[in-house]
Amino acid sequence: MPDIDVSDVEKDKMRPPCYHCGEPYSATNADRHLEPVDCQPCPRCKTMPACYTCRNMYCACEVHQH
Ligand SMILES: [Zn+2]
Ligand SMILES: [Zn+2]
Ligand SMILES: [Zn+2]
Repeated sequence: MPDIDVSDVEKDKMRPPCYHCGEPYSATNADRHLEPVDCQPCPRCKTMPACYTCRNMYCACEVHQH
């Protein structure tokens, strides 16, 4: 992992809203919006981060249903 000199506050300012849920996020909850969740084999949300809401009615993922 490369060292990044930018402070968390400055990173927050540069960061666009989440691509998946449209919410602005900070370094504190970035994992929820960026980290792919290895969930059930649902083709729609397989590698989506936790903030993504799956619209597949047969989706069995707890993380992606709401
Ligand atoms: Zn998000
Ligand atoms: Zn899922
Ligand atoms: Zn799903």
